[in-house]
Amino acid sequence: MKWSYRIGRWWGIDVYLHSSFGLLLLWVAWQHLAAGDGLGQTLLGLLFTLLLFGCVLLHEYGHALTARRFGIATADITLLPVGGVARLERIPREPWQELLVALAGPAVNVVIAAALLGWLVLTATWQPFGELGVVSGNLAERLFVVNLALIVFNLLPAFPMDGGRVLRALLALRLEYPRATLIAARAGQAMALLFVLAGLLGLSSPFLMAIGVVVWIGARTELHDVRRRTSGLLVHRAMLPEFTVVRPGMTLQETLLAAQQWPDRDLPVVHEGRVVGLLAHPALAAAVARGGGAELVQEHCSERLVAVHPADLLDDVQPYLAATGSATALVVYQGRLLGLLPAARLREFLAAARR
Ligand SMILES: [Zn+2]
Repeated sequence: MKWSYRIGRWWGIDVYLHSSFGLLLLWVAWQHLAAGDGLGQTLLGLLFTLLLFGCVLLHEYGHALTARRFGIATADITLLPVGGVARLERIPREPWQELLVALAGPAVNVVIAAALLGWLVLTATWQPFGELGVVSGNLAERLFVVNLALIVFNLLPAFPMDGGRVLRALLALRLEYPRATLIAARAGQAMALLFVLAGLLGLSSPFLMAIGVVVWIGARTELHDVRRRTSGLLVHRAMLPEFTVVRPGMTLQETLLAAQQWPDRDLPVVHEGRVVGLLAHPALAAAVARGGGAELVQEHCSERLVAVHPADLLDDVQPYLAATGSATALVVYQGRLLGLLPAARLREFLAAARR
């Protein structure tokens, strides 16, 4: 992110601080000085702000480290005055994984809040909420309140909050991914409108309106992202389960006859129960057309194979397949060939899903 500076690297993830964070610290200091506080109080206020962002940072690590358990790397974490952003490499492919990754952030704040509550009770330093102010009151208790606020705010069922992802993941357990995203994003936009209206009419709170705007933009971004990046479709939806298998020692003429049923599909070449190559249909047709019908499959097949899992996302397979230059991926499950995924068919599916 522009205007961000690296402040450290923990658990293998770089953490950046947005420079507007400096403005926030200035604002906090100014609030204290305007309230007539001395230097000690002002420094304490700045410490509180830093601790608050420590909680936000741990929240983001909750997401990042849970995602890592599912094999998803995090590019970096950026702390902004409005909160943190962990840039995950991709969205988890299983809805329940997305659910756990989304919940892990707020769960960190639950743990922090519980620990602070325990501390406040043990040390009998609890004071009534009414005596707390933004810039005054018991530091541990203010952090406790802030963590409660983080939990509630992040679990609002709207993008870009974690609650939006929780909602989408729950919907995606039953619906196709793009559909689940659409519903979750619409719910978020409806809530954003409510916030803006409440801010305008009843509560005339610029804070609510600001949240409304953030939520609205978040919902739009998520919709856009998902359309651009994720069909949510799995390989087994697009694969062709019917195919003809040929042997390396067959002649091209024999192969052409055997392949009549699905004449435009590439042919997996199998030797001793193992796929050892792929005979591209255009290569077969061209060789036979120039009179090479007596030549053997093994002279013409490609040994560069692309194997994919039936539960892989089409979005993930496309760049992989394109990079290998192969026209067809083999769909393999537990060592068994389940079907073929031609690159052209993959592109068609993705284009249809993104429409
Ligand atoms: Zn979060």
